[in-house]
Amino acid sequence: MRAERLYEQAQHDLRAMNDHLRAHAFELSGQVIAQRKELGEIKRHADKLEDVNSQVSQDLQLAHFEIDRANLRLREAIDTLQDGFALFDAEQALILANKAYLSVFHNFSEVRPGIRYARLLEVCAHEKLVELGDLSPDEWVFKMLGRLYQPQIQPIELHFTTGVSVRLTDRRVANGDYVSLVSNITDSLRYQAELRDAQTRAEAAVQAKSAFLANMSHEIRTPMNGVVGMAELLTETALDDEQRGYAQTIISSGQALVSIINDILDFSKMDAGKVPLNPTVFDLEKTIHEVLSLLAPTARNKHIELILDYDIFLPAHLMADYGRIRQILTNLVGNAIKLTETGYILVRAVGIGTSGTGHIVTITVEDTGIGIDPEDQGRIFTEFSQVEQTARRRYEGTGLGLAITQRIVTQMGGNIWVDSEPGVGSCFGFTLDLATAHDMPAPEAQELPQDCRSVLLVSDHLISRDILARHLKTLSVNVMSATRKDTVRRHIATSPPDFAIIDQDLTESDPRVVMDKLVERCPATRIVLLCSNLSEIKPDIERHKVFAALRKPVIWRDLLAALQKPATRSISVPEPKGQERVIRPAMRKLRVLYAEDNKVNRLVFTKMLKNMDIELHIAENGRIAVELFNRLAPDIVFMDVSMPEMDGREATHHIRATPAGKTVPIIALTAHALQEEIAHMLEAGMNAMLSKPLKKSELTAALRDHAPPEFTFPED
Ligand code: ADP
Repeated sequence: MRAERLYEQAQHDLRAMNDHLRAHAFELSGQVIAQRKELGEIKRHADKLEDVNSQVSQDLQLAHFEIDRANLRLREAIDTLQDGFALFDAEQALILANKAYLSVFHNFSEVRPGIRYARLLEVCAHEKLVELGDLSPDEWVFKMLGRLYQPQIQPIELHFTTGVSVRLTDRRVANGDYVSLVSNITDSLRYQAELRDAQTRAEAAVQAKSAFLANMSHEIRTPMNGVVGMAELLTETALDDEQRGYAQTIISSGQALVSIINDILDFSKMDAGKVPLNPTVFDLEKTIHEVLSLLAPTARNKHIELILDYDIFLPAHLMADYGRIRQILTNLVGNAIKLTETGYILVRAVGIGTSGTGHIVTITVEDTGIGIDPEDQGRIFTEFSQVEQTARRRYEGTGLGLAITQRIVTQMGGNIWVDSEPGVGSCFGFTLDLATAHDMPAPEAQELPQDCRSVLLVSDHLISRDILARHLKTLSVNVMSATRKDTVRRHIATSPPDFAIIDQDLTESDPRVVMDKLVERCPATRIVLLCSNLSEIKPDIERHKVFAALRKPVIWRDLLAALQKPATRSISVPEPKGQERVIRPAMRKLRVLYAEDNKVNRLVFTKMLKNMDIELHIAENGRIAVELFNRLAPDIVFMDVSMPEMDGREATHHIRATPAGKTVPIIALTAHALQEEIAHMLEAGMNAMLSKPLKKSELTAALRDHAPPEFTFPED
């Protein structure tokens, strides 16, 4: 029973287990089915992936191919560059370089991608691939590396020992990489050197040409001094008309030759571009006045009135190369005098506005000469152009003056023009922007004392009278004008003026008679005489108790100073450089010192002065001139500029350093043609200049103008 029960039990357990196993097996088979399904899914997915994968790898292959192609093209492109090209990473290791770059290092296998920039430099320096100059290889590498760390890497020139020169340009890329460009500049350096060489040779040639011209000019002018001077002396001997005509022709031809040499020399200097501008502080009014004073004798000989109208509102001191301004004015005023037979020449300086740095000044030179036809006006500023009219052929010239003038004005940043009417006159004008000079003393106040409330102006010349009247009226002076003694009488009958300003050159009246009237009728009126010929009027100056005498052209500043003087002051006449002296009769002969090394010139000078009552001392060079000056204390010195041992400028300098030499008039005699020389001479302390070949009339005029007033000389 027990066994039966056990058997049943076992049967039951077996069944249960069987059921369980069946259920499990069923479950398993379900799972297997599910897994099989999943596997199918996965397989399908895997198949798909494989497709994608093969597509990707195909694409990748294509991409690689494209990259390789691009790389190849890029490499070929940079390899075809004649300039060297290299790319370094941020650690300065070489990424790539083209053939040109690597060609320098073809013997060095270590030079390949990966090599450091510093190592490349070491190879260059230690293997003596580049010229290191004064530096050791390490110093050079250090310098070159230091350059890489500058905020802005500057290009540098390297010279290889093979003779090749390159410009190395390194640039930092935004991502930190470095790009190096190496350009071969061997040819351009060679061209540059050749160009420099050619330029130096050309400059030397031009310099030689200028020096040659300067020497030739000197050499030609020196004998011309003899020719013209002797011919002039010849005209003073007993000659018949025909002989006199020949001598006159020698003189005028000689003078024409000298002026041609001057122009050509000036122009050749300009052509060589050798006119550096040297701006300094200068006094424009004085500069214009100096030019007019230098040219005044020629104008006086032609009875042409020179007038200066200077804008009183312009500052006294301006900045410019005043030697050049003087040259422009000398040319324009010289032409005006040459081409005017009667009338006047008016130089006007007007401030037409201000610029950022100074004043815009217009200077015009107006004449009443022969004028220029409208169709000729456009071409007179070109070289060698002269207006071909028969009327003009008697005027000498080269046609270079205005070309030179225009170049200077343009170089100074200005412009020049002409306005002219044939038979009426011409007006040449130029405008310059002149910087104001700072740190200069303020100009003196333009005021007149209480005893200068009324002025009588006696002058024939309407324009100069108007200019003076305008200036005086701005200072609230009551101005009366007259040209003849009748009008003078009318004016003084009503109210005697404080001052009478009388022009010596009255055509309708004799200035002496006018002065007589004034002295008689109104003894309190102070007379200011404006004279063109001081020696002619000197005796009258004392007789009429002339308060002041001013040499024409009158500068407003001098007239103002004369009017400002206290009434009790003794009679004064102009002296060189504006000094004054009291006139006393001369008790001895005028003592003249003349320094000149050339024998012919000495002979000409001596002969020209032989009829004058003077005591002449001659020095053969500057050193002797200084010795004689100290020993003799002459009244006036004529000084040649170029002399051996000590030239005229140095001698002047020594003389000016002595107490007696401070005021003695020194007149320069020069064969040097350049206008800039005049400025140099005035700077050296000379009062005036006479240009060789000397003319007797100019020499005696210089004596009359510059000798102390107690010595008088007759007019020629
Ligand atoms: P040059 O005076 O040496 O002949 P320029 O170049 O100075 O040469 O002048 C050129 C020409 O312009 C002169 O020959 C003259 O015909 C004319 N000219 C110049 N200035 C004047 C003037 N003020 N009046 C009339 N003509 C003038």
